[in-house]
Amino acid sequence: MSSSVLNHFLRKNLEDLKEKGLYNIIDPLESPNGPLIKIAGKELVNLSSNNYLGLATDQRLKDAAFKAVEQFGVGAGAVRTINGTLKLHVELEEKLAQFKHTEAAIAYQSGFNCNMAAISAVMDKNDAILSDELNHASIIDGCRLSRAKIIRYRHSDMEDLRLRAKDAIESGQYNKVMVITDGVFSMDGDIAKLPEIVEIAAEFDLITYVDDAHGSGVLGEGAGTVKHFGLSEKIDFQIGTLSKAIGVVGGYVAGKKELIDWLKVRSRPFLFSTSLTPADVAASIRSIEILMESTELNKRLWDNANYLKTGLKELGFDIGASETPITPCIIGDEVKTQLFSKRLNDEGVYAKAIVFPTVPKGTGRVRNMPSAAHTKEMLDQALSIYEKIGKEMGMI
Ligand SMILES: *Cc1c(COP(=O)(O)O)cnc(C)c1O
Repeated sequence: MSSSVLNHFLRKNLEDLKEKGLYNIIDPLESPNGPLIKIAGKELVNLSSNNYLGLATDQRLKDAAFKAVEQFGVGAGAVRTINGTLKLHVELEEKLAQFKHTEAAIAYQSGFNCNMAAISAVMDKNDAILSDELNHASIIDGCRLSRAKIIRYRHSDMEDLRLRAKDAIESGQYNKVMVITDGVFSMDGDIAKLPEIVEIAAEFDLITYVDDAHGSGVLGEGAGTVKHFGLSEKIDFQIGTLSKAIGVVGGYVAGKKELIDWLKVRSRPFLFSTSLTPADVAASIRSIEILMESTELNKRLWDNANYLKTGLKELGFDIGASETPITPCIIGDEVKTQLFSKRLNDEGVYAKAIVFPTVPKGTGRVRNMPSAAHTKEMLDQALSIYEKIGKEMGMI
């Protein structure tokens, strides 16, 4: 017998979401998550994946994964600290440190897990964290888990950050104070003001923490937002994911050797959750090698992003103020945004609607994620569908 309290809770809340049009329906892919995807038998130009460089389907990564499965099997067999550390994991961590220009790095099962792991390994209830109001959900959860006082500052508002940092330090209430930000904000595509953040951090002796999930492989010729600003020496925690531009799955923290040594003995997902599979690790190593050997894919990503942005702007769409390949097409009204996305889908473009509460009310947008793997023909096809639906809905 299942609990009637639970049944009531689930039924009521699911119905409520469905009534409000907020219940997300998931469309399974019948193809790899490449530049073209197949859903319900239909081929669509894919503008919704984080596979920025097209590496998720790259033959070189697949070959590395196959080889690792043959050599090491499909599972790592234990958590890292028992005997789930294969020499592949060590190799990956050495590569990551080279890639990020840091002394050391530690790999986790996901980017989400990094934030669960790293923040609470260092911060506790006697500390405070200054957190950008638009930080990713996993940063928010990671901060909560640490039980530190969370002090939100207005998005990329450096005056606000400075005032709150000053208050926190002068209050004398906290042992440690950290400032934490996304490197690239995924809803608008804007870049954190890292040079100013580093300056404020130096002034008040703050610990610095940058989650660069959307910056790695994209900015700094691939090395990420911190490298883009030449600040590799100045940021204490550089978080990255292996799941977006790298094309596989997993996450990592890069930083000073002592920090990484500490995370290896104190971060709970490292101690209590089985390590990344051999295939994931080998494919990630190959991916990072490709990124370090050549900037070709990175250049192609930016070419495609600029092409799509110029095209949408020339059609008369509002594409916001993105500084990265993330290209929002801002529509405003939530219902209209959902309808726009659905009409694009009917005509052959897969671009998800993003609405409140993920973004503020009245700023609904369809978010486009161009990649290195798109051809100009695919982007032209997407633009002509955008033109058709934009005119049909009286938006351009
Ligand atoms: C996507 C994202 C994550 C989660 O990374 P996964 O590897 O997919 O778990 C964490 N932080 C930020 C800022 C992200 O954009």
